[in-house]
Amino acid sequence: MPGGDDGSDLDLELEYRPFSLALETPLETADGTIESRDGFLVRLTAADGQVGYGEATPLPGWTESPADCETALARAGEAIQEGPTAALEAVDEQVAARHAVSLALADLQAGREATPLYRYVGKGPMVGRVPVNATIGDGPPAETAHAAREAVDRGFDTCKLKAGRRSVDDDIDRVRRVREAVGDDVELRVDANEAWTYEEATTALVAFADLDVAVVEQPLPAGALEGHADLRADERGDGVSIALDEGLLEHGVDAICEAEAADALVLKPMALGGIDVARKIAAWVQELEITPIVTTTIDGVVARTGAVHLAASIPDVPACGLATGDLLADDLGRDPVLLERGAAVVPQAKGLGVEGVWDT
Ligand SMILES: [Mg+2]
Repeated sequence: MPGGDDGSDLDLELEYRPFSLALETPLETADGTIESRDGFLVRLTAADGQVGYGEATPLPGWTESPADCETALARAGEAIQEGPTAALEAVDEQVAARHAVSLALADLQAGREATPLYRYVGKGPMVGRVPVNATIGDGPPAETAHAAREAVDRGFDTCKLKAGRRSVDDDIDRVRRVREAVGDDVELRVDANEAWTYEEATTALVAFADLDVAVVEQPLPAGALEGHADLRADERGDGVSIALDEGLLEHGVDAICEAEAADALVLKPMALGGIDVARKIAAWVQELEITPIVTTTIDGVVARTGAVHLAASIPDVPACGLATGDLLADDLGRDPVLLERGAAVVPQAKGLGVEGVWDT
């Protein structure tokens, strides 16, 4: 490809190095306990000295394995000599690696244009803040209500409650306690993480409609495409939106739109192959009146900041799941994103706005 603003005129070097970030609290999962998040930090350097950073933090069940990620990054490191397009092709099948390489390219290019990343990718107006939801863990009712109240006192006006580890009746009770604790003006979302049968989901939706729950995320297993479409069509849960998260990975956006299986989609750029991929999906589904919700997994500061820029580049973005930095005990570098009164303050420095990550 001839030279141009995609960076193909640049002499680029791609380096990567592994990192391991301890979690604040070990995470119990079906596959065992996770104590750290391990991945690769990517640095692109142009001959003119401009640099760009990317992060690949593979997540079991969502992305390629760490070994496949590293192999893909090594391929990209060689392919970059033929230009950015070749480097992206080298990681096309590995979503975490592709997220890192595409983010580093965008960071470098936005830096060369002296533009914050969200304006480089979105070409849109200046955005000062993006709304962020609080995430409330799957604790007992009183603890859940207390945590939600505390989040609202800190300025959050959207709370996402984790559910699905107890009986549906217990979860309904938890949501009721939360609604009582936070009042009527707070948006409540419930993430069931695939836990329910159709009957259980219907029971929950009827109660949630009453409690003015705005969104239920992934009520049924990821495979249940028709089931989610049926839930949406079922008037018993009217007023509660259905969001798909795990289901997006399983089916892809085409099948979900065709089946009319979702009112909202949870977009995790690190599991979708990059903020460029996530942005395309967001723009497309917004035309179909499906709401994109940008969400991070537990990632280092480079990937989290990329997600904040992604959210800032999406017009009318709703409250997003971007407040996950507290779950890490250490990080790759200083966090340029201030979380303040239920919003992320978007960095306005050039590129990602993340500094010093390679030196520490
Ligand atoms: Mg989810």
